[in-house]
Amino acid sequence: MPRSLRLETLAITAGRPATQPDAPLSEPVTLASAFHAGGPNEYARDGHPGAGAFEEAIGALEGGHAVAFASGMGACAAILDELPVGATVVAPHGVYMGVRELLEEAEDRLATRWVDQTDTPAVLAAVEGADLLWLETPLNPLLEVADLPGLAAGARVRGVPVAVDATVASPVLLRPLEQGATWSVQSATKYIAGHGDLLMGVVTAADEDRAERLRHHRKIHGATPGALESFLALRGLRTLPLRMERAQANARELAYRLREHPDVERVRYPGLGALLSFEPAGGAERADALCAAAELFVTATSFGGVQSTIERRARWPQERGVPDALLRASIGCEDVEDLWADLERALSASARPATALGASPR
Ligand SMILES: *Cc1c(COP(=O)(O)O)cnc(C)c1O
Repeated sequence: MPRSLRLETLAITAGRPATQPDAPLSEPVTLASAFHAGGPNEYARDGHPGAGAFEEAIGALEGGHAVAFASGMGACAAILDELPVGATVVAPHGVYMGVRELLEEAEDRLATRWVDQTDTPAVLAAVEGADLLWLETPLNPLLEVADLPGLAAGARVRGVPVAVDATVASPVLLRPLEQGATWSVQSATKYIAGHGDLLMGVVTAADEDRAERLRHHRKIHGATPGALESFLALRGLRTLPLRMERAQANARELAYRLREHPDVERVRYPGLGALLSFEPAGGAERADALCAAAELFVTATSFGGVQSTIERRARWPQERGVPDALLRASIGCEDVEDLWADLERALSASARPATALGASPR
């Protein structure tokens, strides 16, 4: 595949079967645990054609060697498991709660220096003598953005590898390897798959040696994705640039309108991607009432699908350091005026006394 193709084209053309008469245009779903001996895929846990096609496409987009996992957490854990006992990790406050739990529960073998990733000098000071810099940009759900080129260059000078979880941006908006990262991590569950119908993760390594170690880790820990998930994730990837274009335009418009709304105290939107967070006046109770009153915005966790979702993040006990009333909204691909009408109506319905709200038919 010529590297000069643009991302929108690669998303559609990469990871296709070879062009020959009667070959299918897309890698089919191959339901098999074992393959006839002698080829690269003897046993599906080591890798299989569906995962291979997905990896080829992601590798082409990210500019590296991709290894697919059964979930985003499987991908994150495989990188952290590269570290020897006694290693030190630098990670941002507010890192995805699953990763924070992994690091906290590994404290008998890994030390973590927690940093504000928007404070570049502080991060670089913490990187001194560390073994891994873990970044997540934009950070979910506070949506803080790290200076990736500056941090990656600073870490490189200090000989420290950098892993970047860029799930919130998706590879359409951020390709960390181009900016000097060692690994790019995606929860493909979110924007890549894009339809809320599967769990998958992928790590793209800058060099083949590291990718091979990840493949080995995946094989012996058993975190290989299934055939159907791999097929659906690759099918989702085909429309990722299109979906992101629409969802991002919707998110930008809604962020502006929410900022102007008298009942909204704070909007967090980095101007990038389709995830936004906002805090309605009236605290957690109002936020919960707003979720209950919204109809197009369904209350559900996760993000990155074509359907808009909303949730109060602090309802999760593991989620720390997030304002109680903060609502994270994943903006989908619906019509923006319909989405705005739904939010506006939910904002005004949730402002009413709770009794009136409870009494009104839905
Ligand atoms: C969802 C998410 C993960 C974990 O991915 P799963 O597919 O749910 O295992 C990791 N990082 C970020 C930023 C996420 O949003």
